[in-house]
Amino acid sequence: MDLCFATNNIHKLEEIKAILGNKYQIVSLEDINCHEELPEERNTLEGNSLQKAEYVFNNYSVSCFADDTGLEVESLDGAPGVYSARYAGEQRSHDDNMNLLLKNLAGKTNRKAQFRTVVTLIQRDGLHQFDGIVEGVILEERKGKGGFGYDPIFLPNGFSKTLAEMSMEEKNRISHRARATQKLVEFLKRNQR
Ligand code: IMP
Repeated sequence: MDLCFATNNIHKLEEIKAILGNKYQIVSLEDINCHEELPEERNTLEGNSLQKAEYVFNNYSVSCFADDTGLEVESLDGAPGVYSARYAGEQRSHDDNMNLLLKNLAGKTNRKAQFRTVVTLIQRDGLHQFDGIVEGVILEERKGKGGFGYDPIFLPNGFSKTLAEMSMEEKNRISHRARATQKLVEFLKRNQR
């Protein structure tokens, strides 16, 4: 079964292919000749993942899914949340984003945070959304070189390694995106024709 994953993020594409295994032929935006930037103008994770999936479905007529993820920090009222990618500005630098977050958390004792992913699947017979959460804390400094985004400063609850210190397999067992994707996979299996 062909399914387009509507993302330009190569890390995510690799992660999802590893999770979905051989059961589904995951095609990329490049594979369907979609080279334009997908719209992401809503102010919720649900809204943005829906907007991206709808754009691909409507313009390219393929079954597809899109995800949107945010890092929600409790003592910052859920920020950076839906604005995680451009927290420190339009340059979308992972390093600048981490620096700003560490600065905004300086002196705060509550460092609880969660990554939340919302996946939207659109097929000819309908639309479905799935979410996935991983809870943890924001460290005071970076640890690890793997992963991407805020991984080096995020310590998942119950683990002694940050997401950036984990192998892709370890991260895929517990991550927000893996959990949302697992729900997507279970749904696809239940509804396979
Ligand atoms: P997106 O909208 O799903 O691309 O995610 C928005 C931003 O959240 C990214 O640019 C990253 O800064 C951050 N993010 C998403 N997923 C992860 C992850 O697995 N680890 C660390 N940061 C992530």
